[in-house]
Amino acid sequence: MKMIDLRSDTVTKPTVEMRHAMFTADVGDDVYEEDITIKRLEERVANLFHKESALFFPSGTMSNLTAILTWCSSVRGAEIIVGDKSHIFLYEQSGASQFGGVSYRTVTNLPDGTMDISTILEYIREKDIHEPSTELICIENTHNVCGGKIVPESFLGNLQMLAREKNIPIHLDGARIWNALTKTKMEPAEMAKYVDSLTVCLSKGLGAPIGSLLIGTKTFIEKARRIRKALGGGMRQTGILAAVGLKALDDFENGILEIDHIRCQRIAETLCKNPYHKWCQIDDTIDTNILFIKIITNPNLEYNASKIAKIFRKKKILVSVWSPTLLRMVFHRDLTDKDIEKIEDAIYTISLYYGFDSLVYSKKYKN
Ligand SMILES: *Cc1c(COP(=O)(O)O)cnc(C)c1O
Repeated sequence: MKMIDLRSDTVTKPTVEMRHAMFTADVGDDVYEEDITIKRLEERVANLFHKESALFFPSGTMSNLTAILTWCSSVRGAEIIVGDKSHIFLYEQSGASQFGGVSYRTVTNLPDGTMDISTILEYIREKDIHEPSTELICIENTHNVCGGKIVPESFLGNLQMLAREKNIPIHLDGARIWNALTKTKMEPAEMAKYVDSLTVCLSKGLGAPIGSLLIGTKTFIEKARRIRKALGGGMRQTGILAAVGLKALDDFENGILEIDHIRCQRIAETLCKNPYHKWCQIDDTIDTNILFIKIITNPNLEYNASKIAKIFRKKKILVSVWSPTLLRMVFHRDLTDKDIEKIEDAIYTISLYYGFDSLVYSKKYKN
């Protein structure tokens, strides 16, 4: 029996159309800049966001790392400002420290994925020989750890004003920008106009097996191309991958992500209207395709996130155990309506178990 995999939207497999596109792609050596399919993808993405240039990467991590190293290449002792719940800070091994001697200064991420503007202002260093030099501000949209939140446009505007005044560039980790664009119906360029560079991923909800792009000015991307080569990201017949990416972009433009948001919302509602016993809490607003489930623990019942994950697993559903009290579900294009019904059934089963056990416990406690 097939597993219903909600661990991430990276688990999607390339569609038949994608596989066919790979098979027929025109290719050349991209280190010599002779792969026409990769050029077509890079140009399409740059145009989509109204920026001058784009560069293909094997992963979002390498794209973000290259962005930071490129922005920080003119000084030693560079420091970047990042959210304390950002992917760049939490899940990329402090790559820019490892490979570029760049340090990270964290600002608390608020529940909506933003950061307090006055704290950012306070954290930007004045030029002082004793201190590191603030070279970049990084943001994330949608914000994964904040629950797939769409960062409000007002925040982008305020941050851009501050950054311009202080002459510091902004990099957007837009691994899931497609989800934000789908939900807000904003034009890609409308969102990108607030930032100086951005990373986008084709290998999350859009279903490509590989591929991220870094987007920015022509000069920025020229520098980034050199750094990508040093990091081992100069690849050869990448047109094979670009052909898939072009299909992924078609799918985005055809609104493929909308259903993921609807399904995520539906499961959120199922969790809320649980008829037996309240065993979990979720955010009041679910913006996109990511759902964090906080398990209400009771030491006498021994229900925690990993126990609940095990029950899901028995029902052939995989979820991420994010912490001892937190589960994450991510909705993606490889799910079917039938899968969603099975997830709902599993939720009812867990509610029954939990409700029954807590009833037994409260009786015992009373006696
Ligand atoms: C997945 C992800 C990345 C990096 O992606 P990889 O391709 O796995 O390296 C970066 N930022 C965010 C927010 C992500 O979710």
